[in-house]
Amino acid sequence: MNSRRLFARAQKSLVGGVNSPVRAFKAVGGTPVFVRSGSGPHFTSAEGRRYIDYCGSWGPLIFGHARREIAKAAADALRSGSTFGAATEREVQLAEELKAALPSLGLVRLTSSGTEAVMSALRVARAFTKRDLVIKFAGCYHGHTDSLLVAAGSGALTLGAPDSAGVPEAWAKTTITLPYNDLSAVDKAFRKYRGKIAAVIVEPFVGNMGVVLPHDGFLEGLRALTKRNKALLIFDEVITGFRLCYGGAQTILGVTPDLTTMGKIIGGGLPMGAYGGRKEIMSLVAPLGPVYQAGTLSGNPVAVAAGLETLRLLQKENPYSRLGQITDYLLRGLSEAAEDARARVQINSAGSMFTLFFGKGPICDLAAARKCDTKKYGRFFQRMLKQGVYFPPAQFEAAFVSFAHDKKDLDHTIRAARRALRGL
Ligand SMILES: *Cc1c(COP(=O)(O)O)cnc(C)c1O
Repeated sequence: MNSRRLFARAQKSLVGGVNSPVRAFKAVGGTPVFVRSGSGPHFTSAEGRRYIDYCGSWGPLIFGHARREIAKAAADALRSGSTFGAATEREVQLAEELKAALPSLGLVRLTSSGTEAVMSALRVARAFTKRDLVIKFAGCYHGHTDSLLVAAGSGALTLGAPDSAGVPEAWAKTTITLPYNDLSAVDKAFRKYRGKIAAVIVEPFVGNMGVVLPHDGFLEGLRALTKRNKALLIFDEVITGFRLCYGGAQTILGVTPDLTTMGKIIGGGLPMGAYGGRKEIMSLVAPLGPVYQAGTLSGNPVAVAAGLETLRLLQKENPYSRLGQITDYLLRGLSEAAEDARARVQINSAGSMFTLFFGKGPICDLAAARKCDTKKYGRFFQRMLKQGVYFPPAQFEAAFVSFAHDKKDLDHTIRAARRALRGL
């Protein structure tokens, strides 16, 4: 069955034909690709077409698809029992690895998704500070937990309004949404809601409005402001964890958050999340303390085995400098292609994550990202797809280069972009 027929069939039984909305290609038009299998930097569609993949399942696949050692580790674990609902040694090992790589993690709890990790971290932050309000930044995505599906209120410093149907006003009002990179807005919010703000949550390098980088001093400023106001700083490193170095963005930046949330790469492509931080804060989580949080499949043996093997490979092969080099090579090619086509494209990147924005730079917050031409991105996406290159199916997303991409893939991508950008 081809993708078109599968999509028609899927819509009769799955909501919108998919299990996560952006997979439905609403942002770029056309029929979503149904995937049959993946290997290295490629996947093959239901109709047997091969694509070079820059979506990478939205971040987890730093080694590409079906890396042999990771698949074997997961398969071996599965044969020994898929879940016990009781503690296993490998969970301890994974927590130890995370702690060693991110010294800010005094204690860790594993979950089954990034959303769960964020939701739980906020609960702990509220319990620790005995305060209710949380500051987040417009364009940062922290999963689909209710209190964070919130748009900025009508004034920049007002409490939030629901950004999804079904989120109670009252919950949205626990969130203050501010522009990314705007430290003075954060300072003003702390003054206005003195003694009421539990935490500031931020993607240290943003992936979820497309790649957007922190200005010099922004994260340091958040650290200073949260400290001064006795609020917690939470780094959402679900994407950046082990993507930019062996550790998190915090490792590179030298800014230490109180709590960190993780996911994606640490599960090696299986469902996984984690949150952790200072011992005195995490000691509030059950069974040590009064903050309830649990999960039937938390620390699942198969996911933990895949995650551990991924971390082992990352240490053994230390792919980060090569990932940086091949991403630079790709982005130089894409940028020259855009220049030659006189296409107005702004490329933001951090390590092996990048976004081609169809608009004028610099793109340093959601307001700037929103000015980009999403229709143009949609056309670019479709033209690339026709040439066997799969970018993320929406403008406001990060693309990922994996350790499996080689020069041939990159050159093919650059040639395809030359054709795609012409007369866009
Ligand atoms: C993907 C993502 C999440 C949510 O993780 P899920 O595993 O999809 O629930 C949270 N925060 C950030 C920064 C993410 O990129």
